[in-house]
Amino acid sequence: VNMTATSLRTAPNTEPPRLKPVVRLTHISKRFANGTLAVQDFNFAFPQHGFISLLGPSGCGKSTVLRMIAGLSRPSSGTLEWTRDSVVADKPRRELGFVFQEPTLMPWATALRNVMLPLKLAGVPKAEARERAVAALAQVGLAGFENAYPRQLSGGMKMRVSIARAIVERPRVLLMDEPFAALDEFTRFRLNKDLLRLWQENSFTVVFVTHSVFESVFLSQHVLLMAARPGRVMARVPIEAPYPRDEAFRTSTLYNECCREVHQLLGEANAND
Ligand code: ADP
Ligand code: MG
Repeated sequence: VNMTATSLRTAPNTEPPRLKPVVRLTHISKRFANGTLAVQDFNFAFPQHGFISLLGPSGCGKSTVLRMIAGLSRPSSGTLEWTRDSVVADKPRRELGFVFQEPTLMPWATALRNVMLPLKLAGVPKAEARERAVAALAQVGLAGFENAYPRQLSGGMKMRVSIARAIVERPRVLLMDEPFAALDEFTRFRLNKDLLRLWQENSFTVVFVTHSVFESVFLSQHVLLMAARPGRVMARVPIEAPYPRDEAFRTSTLYNECCREVHQLLGEANAND
């Protein structure tokens, strides 16, 4: 694929952001036992307090990259390094929060109990766990819903509980795998906006997986544009718009230009699909 033809503020070989990385992936590849090359030569240093999206069609290796960062899947080759002051090298999961498309809440437990669970598993004393879970629920806009059960909550609210559960351990990195894909557009916009606020109020790095151009441009500092077969990064696109980003940004010329550019690039990158 020739990307030089487009009018880019970007290039496949753009240096990663110069901020200190939290986790650095160098020449990471993943081949599954059945021969599928799910990820080929992935290179990126995720900066501290960065907001990075992995954008691409189904099957381009987005979830596989997240799972490798989470330590749930082992790279076939390459190195994955956590910076010294973030995570103890052999225990990266303790510093990670993971949010999936499904909220995966325990149906028999209240919102509060769901958010307390990871702290309980980590051996945090109950009173402290409760206090932190209450604070996390308030951070995601669910103050007053501590005692609600999942069945009493809307899809967007369940996702908020899932996010609260992921941030209650104060992760250095929040991994999000198409978290809002199942929500209606209005709810999704609201969660986009609230996620940015949450990110700005905290110090974690977000690695956000989506196949929505609009969502990746709205949220991210950098979009890593991927293609499938084999799964690989085709371009890194910086989105040079200041934060906070809000509805005014969503209707701005800059936003629309960025979306058009990313959309075009994504089409070129996946032209053979
Ligand atoms: P995405 O999240 O971008 O949709 P995935 O990372 O889930 O993509 O998958 C990338 C490729 O790897 C796909 O072709 C998928 O079928 C394949 N794949 C994913 N998990 C496995 C597995 N456990 N075994 C074999 N192939 C897999
Ligand atoms: Mg996936």
